[in-house]
Amino acid sequence: MSEQVVKPRIRGFISLTAHPDGCAANVREQVAAIDAAGLTASGGTALVLGSSTGYGLASVLVAAFGLRAKTLGVCFERPPEDDKPASAGWYNLAEARRLASERGLTFETVNGDAFSSEVKEGVIARLRAGLGPADLVVYSIAAPRRRGDDGTIWNSVLKPIGRPYTGLGFDLRNERVVDSNIEPASPEEIATTVKVMGGEDWTAWVEALHAAGLLAPGCRTVAYSYIGPEFTAAIYRRGTIGRAKEHLETTAHQLDRRLQEAVGGHAWVSINTGVVTQASAAIPAVPLYMSILFKVLKERGLYETAVDQIVRLVRDHVGPGVEPRLDPERRIRLDDREMRPEIQQAITELWLRARNENLAETTDYAGYKRDFERLFGFGVDGVDYDAPTEIDRSLG
Ligand code: NAD
Repeated sequence: MSEQVVKPRIRGFISLTAHPDGCAANVREQVAAIDAAGLTASGGTALVLGSSTGYGLASVLVAAFGLRAKTLGVCFERPPEDDKPASAGWYNLAEARRLASERGLTFETVNGDAFSSEVKEGVIARLRAGLGPADLVVYSIAAPRRRGDDGTIWNSVLKPIGRPYTGLGFDLRNERVVDSNIEPASPEEIATTVKVMGGEDWTAWVEALHAAGLLAPGCRTVAYSYIGPEFTAAIYRRGTIGRAKEHLETTAHQLDRRLQEAVGGHAWVSINTGVVTQASAAIPAVPLYMSILFKVLKERGLYETAVDQIVRLVRDHVGPGVEPRLDPERRIRLDDREMRPEIQQAITELWLRARNENLAETTDYAGYKRDFERLFGFGVDGVDYDAPTEIDRSLG
């Protein structure tokens, strides 16, 4: 037992602390949205890699509470230690596990480095021990680095390719629109970003599961990607991360063929819309773009959360008994609202006008900031931030 008052310690695009009750309230809100969506319970087993925050959390919650699948999630979170609170993802999954057991659902988590053989073997052992072969495998890892089994470290960088990026950026620390200038990546940096965020590890997971006989007949696997607008393309889609995403998308084609032969299954990439997460907050220019995107979508009643997106993904594309609608590159497009020409046109007009003096008028930065603080369990209605709370919570 260790009770304490937890205060935010936000530094730019991360918070050094997370509030257990705020994170728990966020998860309850997401589960309530899933309940309201009324998905058909199909059961089965879902493995979600990167299950503790953002799109992976939404995926494991939709699988558990929507499909009523047995779930096994993998994440890389900091547990509570003495008087130090755990990271947000830890508290998210502690609450999800508590809610799942109230409802008699199987909700398990492995906390460790998904890139390692050790964690892959641990997951295989858990599936063998009773969770069963996977009907759905979601790959939602967003990592700044990857460690090989032999100790080699590859870092992922967010840089343009070929020439410098010059354009607007947003300094989250000082909350100011800034001119951003980022030098292009070296060939080595491009290769290491692909190594971390491309499809190699997704393939390794699918192969390990197949070798262990743990891909259920008709198993479906999906990994997440992003495209975004033309004016962030130099830093995102045509930059190092975009190169990694192209690799991920090519991997989907190869895995699809492998899965069809092996178990009559499928592999797809889903292009999701922009939402505030720890990973997306770290991308230059993206916080400003998203602040404008949210304003434009909210004004038109088109705004969606990560859970809204994953409910749509499961209901319309990858859930049992449905076939996905794919674009010409075989990708599922959940970014259809974001990419509508009239939405992008409205965003471009605001982007050209956005300055520090008119942020409240040209952007929904207030909404962005609220979402950002909520990632760490702060700014959540109904939570008493002056009261001591138990920081030692268990993932089960
Ligand atoms: P996130 O930072 O919220 O989540 C990352 C997850 O990966 C966490 O669960 C974390 O614990 C886990 N993780 C990181 N390193 C790990 C490791 N070594 N081993 C095990 N787990 C590890 O990120 P997110 O924004 O939800 O991104 C998930 C995926 O969705 C990414 O592929 C991202 O490109 C994609 N995506 C995100 C957005 C967006 O706007 N956020 C939009 C479209 C697609």
